[in-house]
Amino acid sequence: MTVEAKKETLGFQAEVKQLLHLMIHSLYSNKEIFLRELISNASDASDKLHFLSLSHPDIMEGEGDLKIRLECDKDKKTITLTDNGIGMNREDVISHLGTIAKSGTAEFLRNLTGDQKKDSRLIGQFGVGFYSAFVVAKEVEVFTRKAGEPAENGVHWVSQGEGEFSIAQVNRPQRGTTIVLHLRDGEEEFADGWRLRSIVKKYSDHISLPIEMLKEDFRSDEEKEKEPQAPEFEVVNKATALWTRSRNEITDDEYKEFYKHISHDFEEPASWSHNRVEGKQEYTSLLYVPKRAPFDLYHREAPRGLKLYVQRVFIMDDAEQFLPLYLRFIKGVLDSSDLPLNVSREILQSNQTVENMKSALTKRALDMLSKLAGEEESYKAFWKQFGQVLKEGPAEDYSNREKILGLLRFASTQSGTAEQVVSLDQYIERMKEGQDKIYYITAENHNAAANSPHLEIFRKKGVEVLLMSDRVDEWMMGQIFDYKGKSFINIAKGDLDLGSIETEEEKKQQEEVEKSSEDLVKRLKAALESRVSEVKVSHRLTDSPACLVVGAYDMGAQMRQIMEAAGQKLPDSKPTLEINPSHPLMERLTAEVQDDRFSDLASVVFDQAALSEGRVLDDPAAYVKRINALLLETLR
Ligand code: ADP
Ligand code: MG
Repeated sequence: MTVEAKKETLGFQAEVKQLLHLMIHSLYSNKEIFLRELISNASDASDKLHFLSLSHPDIMEGEGDLKIRLECDKDKKTITLTDNGIGMNREDVISHLGTIAKSGTAEFLRNLTGDQKKDSRLIGQFGVGFYSAFVVAKEVEVFTRKAGEPAENGVHWVSQGEGEFSIAQVNRPQRGTTIVLHLRDGEEEFADGWRLRSIVKKYSDHISLPIEMLKEDFRSDEEKEKEPQAPEFEVVNKATALWTRSRNEITDDEYKEFYKHISHDFEEPASWSHNRVEGKQEYTSLLYVPKRAPFDLYHREAPRGLKLYVQRVFIMDDAEQFLPLYLRFIKGVLDSSDLPLNVSREILQSNQTVENMKSALTKRALDMLSKLAGEEESYKAFWKQFGQVLKEGPAEDYSNREKILGLLRFASTQSGTAEQVVSLDQYIERMKEGQDKIYYITAENHNAAANSPHLEIFRKKGVEVLLMSDRVDEWMMGQIFDYKGKSFINIAKGDLDLGSIETEEEKKQQEEVEKSSEDLVKRLKAALESRVSEVKVSHRLTDSPACLVVGAYDMGAQMRQIMEAAGQKLPDSKPTLEINPSHPLMERLTAEVQDDRFSDLASVVFDQAALSEGRVLDDPAAYVKRINALLLETLR
């Protein structure tokens, strides 16, 4: 019997209960991964202790052989996992095993709908962690004592995983953590040495810490009784850090399991890249692209970066100095031989070695993505998850701009779907003869872009236009000017120079139309004086009566809206109205002799041009009134 003091019963944080629920739903067909999670935690705890011992050797308390011990008892239906890692004190236990620390989790869980709560893939957002023990255990006990603290600071934690846990003070001379699982009825199969060994092999072989289990004794019970033997333990995993082994000795499954260990992700990675660099700098990196974006990809304080080791000693999680922000979704480990063991976040921030590694790792990560881009379906899935983040790249990382641009994907008039699947290289390959520009349009949403009147001439000529409607697009396009020597042209801005796409004959025709429309242009300009900077005859339009064009250096409608929503005051910039004189409405306008009717019609034409590209009207009520008046007239 343990002597317990200060026993208290506390409730789990509401989100923990939700997570537990989600987990039990999700893991019914994959229960055995609870062991991977507990071993992963024991391994982390040993890494942390080892690191601390570099500056505080006393903390080892004379016991430096770090290891994990795994035992089971068929009769009692228990599994016991012991580590001699850093351990936890009372506060640690309450906060680590009673709450979810990751910022934004609570909010995320609160916003889940009923169906989503049942979605097993969601669990991948969190990693399953310690609580997965409850998938097989009806009760979990934790005995732990933090390294460096006295034996009487031991903690005994017990819970049935149903909303509350009890915590008490116990005497524990032994440093580290022991976890006892009391198996649920029906889960007894796990209290079996061979079963546990095979689970360790499958999921935790890569753990660098030795995992010990009792040697199986094959003698009969009688023999055992006659000649009792002291229990003998043996190491059941490979127990070398995975990244230190050579690539051709590591199986895909081992790479995948290692990813789950370091990323706390429940799903497999989309791809990985393992490299050893020798020479002036020496380091090993193992980088992974996840399959799914975490819910906090856009939270500023969300953890990101690599797990950093120096000569195999764990230094820190989330070392974000080795990759640029636009690659924040990349996970992995970095083991450096050049950095000092006492390296701190401050040192990492201004260090030439770190800078050099960062640029090399960035290249590696981009190469890994280029390779992934070769697998169409995988890259499509990747792009859906992380494309928006990659679009931050061209502005953030000038030196790799061309490479990043090559990785971007867009919707286009040619692909015929809202899905972003067209690369710039594909676009260039499909260019029309005489075309030397990459044409694009930005709008509030895909439909507005795809149906914009600005596209008419391009449709007629069969020239492809990239359709952009993501929030970052207009901002991104403001930062880049060309790709492989071809400049980008926003077709809704400035004078449209179609270069040699337009034939000499067409140019001549255009001039003639301009001449014959001079009067109409003048009248329109007068009628719309307060709303347009200019009225012009268009060569973009074939079907629509008119469209709006902003100045080559003016902000587009999308950017304007973003800035205005952010409370920025912007200088007024009036668009140019371009008209299509061959449209019947224009012919009708030309024939209109009454000035006030002309002015009403002109306003309607202007408003419709604005609407058709997804703009918001300044005075929608006035527009509706005019349209209604016109309708009534025709219905009379
Ligand atoms: P994660 O490993 O993703 O942080 P877990 O749910 O697996 O999440 O574990 C929660 C926390 O509990 C860990 O971060 C760690 O602080 C603590 N913990 C769990 N197991 C141990 C252990 N064996 N030794 C020390 N601390 C532990
Ligand atoms: Mg864990």
